[in-house]
Amino acid sequence: MAGPKTLLVLENFINGKFVPCSSYIDSYDPSTGDVYCRVPDSGKEEVEIAVTAARDAFLSWSSKSPQERSQIMNKLADLIEHDLEAFAQAESKDQGKTITFARTVDIPRAAYNFRFFASSILHHTTECTQMDHIDCMHYTVRTPVGIAGLISPWNLPLYLLTWKIAPAITSGNTVIAKPSEMTSVTAWMMCKLLGKAGIPPGVVNIVFGTGPKAGEAIVSHPEVPLISFTGSTLTAQHIRQRSAPHWKKLSLELGGKNPAIIFEDANLDQCIPTTVRSSFANQGEICLCTSRIFVQRSIYNEFLKRFVEETRKWKVGSPSDPTASMGALISKEHLEKVKNYVKKARAEGARILCGEGVDSLALPTGNQNGYFMLPTVIAEVKDESCCMQEEIFGPVTCVVLFDTEEEVIKRANGVKYGLAATIWSSNVGRVHRVAKRLQAGLVWTNCWLVRELNLPFGGMKASGIGREGAKESYEFFTEVKTITIKH
Ligand code: NAD
Repeated sequence: MAGPKTLLVLENFINGKFVPCSSYIDSYDPSTGDVYCRVPDSGKEEVEIAVTAARDAFLSWSSKSPQERSQIMNKLADLIEHDLEAFAQAESKDQGKTITFARTVDIPRAAYNFRFFASSILHHTTECTQMDHIDCMHYTVRTPVGIAGLISPWNLPLYLLTWKIAPAITSGNTVIAKPSEMTSVTAWMMCKLLGKAGIPPGVVNIVFGTGPKAGEAIVSHPEVPLISFTGSTLTAQHIRQRSAPHWKKLSLELGGKNPAIIFEDANLDQCIPTTVRSSFANQGEICLCTSRIFVQRSIYNEFLKRFVEETRKWKVGSPSDPTASMGALISKEHLEKVKNYVKKARAEGARILCGEGVDSLALPTGNQNGYFMLPTVIAEVKDESCCMQEEIFGPVTCVVLFDTEEEVIKRANGVKYGLAATIWSSNVGRVHRVAKRLQAGLVWTNCWLVRELNLPFGGMKASGIGREGAKESYEFFTEVKTITIKH
């Protein structure tokens, strides 16, 4: 265990200042199992102070021109990029992800989120229609909503938090944000840059703590009229109930059980490495990860053999090892939960082809107590199995076979989630037909995780409500009003 002197102690950031909290919770380094950080255990009291700060800052911030806010956002992006390595090291240690992933995905994207919304805010227009025959004209205006409550999960900590903060504040709102209690460090680091970038006190307030205390206080506060939440479907159900009496605007980005459909005319040389990546990137802890792979009968055996060979090439190692493809899972409890799915699959008669319980995991001496597991491939599992129905959110993927297009569409849609899907085929007509019928907010064909931030992102069914993107986030973080002028 790390000695008390070495612990990193975080503080809330309210009204432009760091403020200590009366109680703290432990945060673990997932790669060693040691407590290395203490996170404020905020509640109603801290949220109340943050609401006051955000309310006081709103008038001045919302009155700034989009150009002024845009410049500040670009400056913040510069500052994050300048400290990219320090942020990447911190994200990797806090979350367990590989340093390579943090360096190439998480932190560059966090900086880019500010740059992207700094640009897009300059290009929105509103509508105008004329009724000259009665000397009237109508037009719309958009105004910021007020104090935005932003709650984010632990898998892509700074990446997802900034994906909310950036559109909220560029649109003129002030915010109270709460990152996951398990991964709060990079948000705290970013607070040190906000003043330098020119963000006035009270515009961004970060209150650290758990969901049931700090999160709940934000969600149920009557002066926070909108909540943007990314996290689990179960928590979102609770948030909908708690916020309902206050008529809050909600944006909910939730879990997934994403299918990959691999037709017999797929280019397997491209499909196999991409599908291994889509299954196991970030330890399988991405809401968009593939976890059900449907393979057409004629190529099933070849696919399975090559897929397992490719999976075995993935090295699980210390997150700081630049040659590791996978680091540690977020927590001991989560590791147990993921492993339990593999146990259940085995008990149901499925075949575990590689990974957990089949291959041995060699770890460096310092990582023996970390939360690691091998990427695991399961075959011959029934569609009704919990492994095919529930979000595992770890390095476990199931491969099953199918015969016809009609059949696979039905089976791919046969879960409660509807976030993302992947199709592999060289037949454009088929790709288009199938993509249209899949119940998913995002469909990638012959690729995975190619993001175009301008376009809508989000899920259907239990994967969420609303969409995020240049236009969609702007619409969410503003209220529209129709004005009529008789002249
Ligand atoms: P979670 O729902 O447990 O927690 C998410 C956040 O909500 C955390 O900050 C947590 O403290 C807070 N929270 C928990 N209970 C709360 C409550 N009662 N009131 C208010 N806030 C509360 O989710 P997680 O385990 O951190 O993240 C994993 C989940 O997030 C997975 O289901 C994953 O699919 C989903 N996710 C979705 C997307 C997407 O864009 N659709 C992206 C990333 C992760």
